[in-house]
Amino acid sequence: MGGKVLRIKFAASTFYETAPAARPIYNKSVQPETSSQIILAENLVKVYAQGQIQVTAVRGISLAVEPGEFVAIVGPSGSGKSTLFYLLGGLTRATSGRVVIDGVDFASLDDAARTRLRKHRIGFVFQKFNLLPTLSAMGNIEIAYSISGRKEPMDMAYLDHLSEMLSIQGRLKHRPSELSGGEQQRVAIARALITRPAIVLADEPTGNLDTKNSDAVLHMLLRSNRELGQTTLMITHNPEAASIASRILYMRDGEIVREEKGSRADMELPAAATV
Ligand code: ADP
Repeated sequence: MGGKVLRIKFAASTFYETAPAARPIYNKSVQPETSSQIILAENLVKVYAQGQIQVTAVRGISLAVEPGEFVAIVGPSGSGKSTLFYLLGGLTRATSGRVVIDGVDFASLDDAARTRLRKHRIGFVFQKFNLLPTLSAMGNIEIAYSISGRKEPMDMAYLDHLSEMLSIQGRLKHRPSELSGGEQQRVAIARALITRPAIVLADEPTGNLDTKNSDAVLHMLLRSNRELGQTTLMITHNPEAASIASRILYMRDGEIVREEKGSRADMELPAAATV
């Protein structure tokens, strides 16, 4: 490989890589042009050990996401999407490579500081909702707010706004077991957004939902991405869900193999979700 530096423009970000440029660069060593990337992954590798067998779930992924981008990661089951999600969210440690969130290298932090960064900066949405079963919907939202470390009290007007948009106003006193799957996910979205996190990471957020609830969840993720200038990264195996993103990355066998522009920029949003 020669040492010549080439500049390559993508839909929403600019990277540098040493020549040759014909191959996709996002799986190679990526150097940021500036420090403006809110999420930066460099040569990420994750190997799981299962007894004597080692499974390499992520094979040297490099990726840069700019503030305000909506990135979808698509790929078949077993391609490493969830592992990448856990790495980028600081929920698991990389075998090698690094993750830098808003200029802070996860590896430079001890466990407590890493947890703090995660709780303060990132809102998570999971396929299985992950609501605490013994708390009401409201209790789940309140506890997420309380552990985020925000000093100011929870903004009740904002919660009302979120609840109205997610059509969960009448459901907040109920426990998860008393809610439908769609309602649980809409509560989980409110829980993720109540802290106004800079980054929203969603792992198959529509995976367990019917079309109407999927639309409501996607609508809300898109709306908060636009209105709060959030950076959103959503894992999905549903190409339709992915198409709302500004950028779509395709994974296979632990690597990002292709990148495409999504249609988010052209999408009109209704005022509120209809469920
Ligand atoms: P996806 O989200 O695309 O379905 P995953 O990241 O869950 O992919 O899995 C990628 C690969 O890593 C698969 O081969 C899977 O079996 C393996 N894997 C995932 N989690 C673990 C684990 N905790 N221990 C061992 N292997 C795992």
